[in-house]
Amino acid sequence: MISVTSLMESLVAVRTKRCQSLLQLSQKQWSACLLQFEQLQQQLCWSETTHRADVHPVMREFGIFSGYRHTGRGWGYYLRSAFRLHNETLNWLSHALGSLLIIGLGAVLTLRLPATADPVDVRLAWLFCLTSALMHTVSALAHLMHNHSELSHCLVFFADNAAVGLASYVINLLGVAFFSSHSYYSFIGPATMPTLVFGTICMSSGFSLALAAYRRRYNPATSLLMFGPSSCFLFFGLAPVIERRLLSPDEPEMLGMTHYYLFFLAILCYATCFPECLWPGRFDLLLHSHQLFHCLATASHCMLLSSVFSLISDDSPHLFSKRSSEWVSMETACRGLGVAFVFSVCIVALLAKAFRYDTSFSSRASTCCKAN
Ligand SMILES: [Zn+2]
Repeated sequence: MISVTSLMESLVAVRTKRCQSLLQLSQKQWSACLLQFEQLQQQLCWSETTHRADVHPVMREFGIFSGYRHTGRGWGYYLRSAFRLHNETLNWLSHALGSLLIIGLGAVLTLRLPATADPVDVRLAWLFCLTSALMHTVSALAHLMHNHSELSHCLVFFADNAAVGLASYVINLLGVAFFSSHSYYSFIGPATMPTLVFGTICMSSGFSLALAAYRRRYNPATSLLMFGPSSCFLFFGLAPVIERRLLSPDEPEMLGMTHYYLFFLAILCYATCFPECLWPGRFDLLLHSHQLFHCLATASHCMLLSSVFSLISDDSPHLFSKRSSEWVSMETACRGLGVAFVFSVCIVALLAKAFRYDTSFSSRASTCCKAN
């Protein structure tokens, strides 16, 4: 009996040791892989880039140490950098291609629509296509050109935040127009447009104020400004989609929730800075959190667009609105978008005036910033 017990113990010990050694081996292999990936990035990196210590503090990203473009160079330098590898290459390219993808997808889905499709529904879907393409384009330009100075960095990202707000306005409008039940809409209906406009303004100004006032120094106030208004606004668009899933669980998935799953995954990457939070310096140029955030956000927009076109094509009767023209007219939607746009532009101008920005940051940064 003793011999059997000791045999079992020794077998368990051998197995545990083997597992540990396998784990250690895989950890070593994983580290070697990461190191090789980092070295490959360094080999491909554009020679006219620099270390994070040499750029303006507002442009330094958490967990990213190399591949920064210089601050204070002429605009031609940033244009020339478009097709060279640095830490913004995939950021701008992913959104430039995303813009084309969303327009192309909208065109293909429109061509496939049945002749019975409601033209108001199609116009609302195209309103989303255009605002999403605008957001992708502004964001692509912001990532390409922002390194010139602190002022240019803040201005292009204020514009980016305003475009994100406008795209969110239309996303939430589609949530109410295409996914609401009759009872939900009769409850929320009259408050829809004012809430959309107010939510858009609060969201884009919250992002921009956090950037202007705290200049990338994340603290509770910054997080509250960034995630408070945007989370409330997000829930406003999500509520009818959740209600639809709860009231009609047997209905085929119209990708409405898939859009939100992808979006939450995108926000998770953005907020946690994954993967560079775990492996700082290993993903400086390729596959860092902001690039993953961009790709997932674009995928979520494509899912929403497919979902909306599926609903427009669907002729079967159910308790949800398919004919958004009953509830949301194109004129009202555009008027609300116009008001949100004017307010967003005013807020960008106000923030640009209200804070002092360093416009003359240049190569002297390499001496003054190394102390930070
Ligand atoms: Zn971005």
